[in-house]
Amino acid sequence: MRLIRPVTTLMSLAALIALPLVVEAQQRPQQERRPSDPPVLRRNLRGVLGGVPMTAADSMHQDVVRLLDFDSYKQILYGLTQFGDREQGTPRNAAAIDWIEDQLRSWGYETERVHYMYTPRDSEVAEPREEVFATKIGSSRPDEMYIIGAHMDGRGGGEAANDDGSGTALVMEIARVLATSDVASDRSLRFALWNNEETGLNGARAYVEQRAAMQGAEDPPGSGLYPEPRWMGMIQHDMMMWDHGNPVTYNQALDADVDVEFQLNSVMAAESAQLGLALINSNRLHATDYPAVLSNAMSNTDSTPFMDLVPAVSLRENRRLYETGNRANPHWHQTTDLFETFSDADFMLGFNAAQTTLGAIARLAEIRIVR
Ligand SMILES: [Zn+2]
Repeated sequence: MRLIRPVTTLMSLAALIALPLVVEAQQRPQQERRPSDPPVLRRNLRGVLGGVPMTAADSMHQDVVRLLDFDSYKQILYGLTQFGDREQGTPRNAAAIDWIEDQLRSWGYETERVHYMYTPRDSEVAEPREEVFATKIGSSRPDEMYIIGAHMDGRGGGEAANDDGSGTALVMEIARVLATSDVASDRSLRFALWNNEETGLNGARAYVEQRAAMQGAEDPPGSGLYPEPRWMGMIQHDMMMWDHGNPVTYNQALDADVDVEFQLNSVMAAESAQLGLALINSNRLHATDYPAVLSNAMSNTDSTPFMDLVPAVSLRENRRLYETGNRANPHWHQTTDLFETFSDADFMLGFNAAQTTLGAIARLAEIRIVR
């Protein structure tokens, strides 16, 4: 992966090869881990697809999408990778949850935690686990809510940068730009950073088990407060940055795209497909560099526990079963899933997914800048 960095000249390559590995590792933090590096990629997607007519509402939503910041997305992702792979049940996982919560609070959110029990595979003793979420309360429809999720746990012994730091940072960056009172949303939005995805979606399942029955209830009665607003849709983000073709090439593939998946074999398949189409249409309007496609085999991610109850989709770098499942990402669950493994072209795919999701929920939840 180092070979494709624009800053890497033939001479520096030769120098790196000649250096002992330990020196190379020490140099990386200064030379390559710079979240503030400017974007190098502009694929001019609108030129590829042709102009899409923009309504006045679309333009208003685009103003919201433009609040997203590429450098901020990378900085949040870099922050997550400082906790290693954040494997569930480890101190680094617990520290990462604290860090995520601190970030959300620093932007002005009140946060909550879901507490649940999980029995590790090599044990018969259930242990306590936690995950955190934050909510932007709807200004006129606080009782209706879209859930925007990603899993903060990982595995593999690296930094779980792509799986799923990339999705976690996406959700957090959207939360960051919507935190200000200058941005209003008619409907409520919940930013959920699931734990225990890698062990079988246990964190998202716990959320559904504990909170599905609470939907739409005003508590206390007459208060205007809804601890669990009625679920209007669930949008999951899981592995967002790497679409290098298969067989795998060094660079992001020319046909790299955001894959939006729903599950055909689910109770809410038709409604989920409509939610997926809302994301495709948003991508055409608001994404700057990469297109999006819709397919019907959503699998192995935290939207699954929701899919029979509410419209549910996942956004990914590749179709989970047919591409990721056929080794389209050689860093998946490996020690090489590191921040430094990825180029700006890779980060930009994740950022385009953020644009896609924010544009869609701006329309669906009716988000606008009010200052
Ligand atoms: Zn994942």
